[in-house]
Amino acid sequence: MTNDFNITGPQKKPHPMRCWYCQRTSPKEMTEQMSTFGPDRYIPKSGWQVIGDPVISETSNNKKLYRYKIWTGMYVMKFGYFCMQKCATVFANAAVAHKLRNRKTNGQTSNNREGELLEMKQRMDRASPQSLKALQDKFNNNR
Ligand SMILES: [Zn+2]
Repeated sequence: MTNDFNITGPQKKPHPMRCWYCQRTSPKEMTEQMSTFGPDRYIPKSGWQVIGDPVISETSNNKKLYRYKIWTGMYVMKFGYFCMQKCATVFANAAVAHKLRNRKTNGQTSNNREGELLEMKQRMDRASPQSLKALQDKFNNNR
């Protein structure tokens, strides 16, 4: 069960993934970092990329504080193979419905087939030797 929960959790990859239901690509994983270093001195963690300009605020002792918007270099699919919980539920239900429909159809096909074979047998039993001869002649004449 633990594994089942793990696959339904967020999946992080260094490349975008597509949602199995709506085909949307997984968004970039974003985070924020606070620093007293301005853009000229701030160095993000390796693999991280600063997006846009930082938001500047001031600390109580009049120091500048920079809030950086950062892309971690990863893409996150929030619900396993799906972008939204809704996508996962719709996909799962459609899969079950499809399976049930197939099971029903297969059952009918095999029943029909049995019925057809039985009917064919009955027709052959009913056929008299004369009518078979007539059928044979008809077939030969039409060749
Ligand atoms: Zn989706």
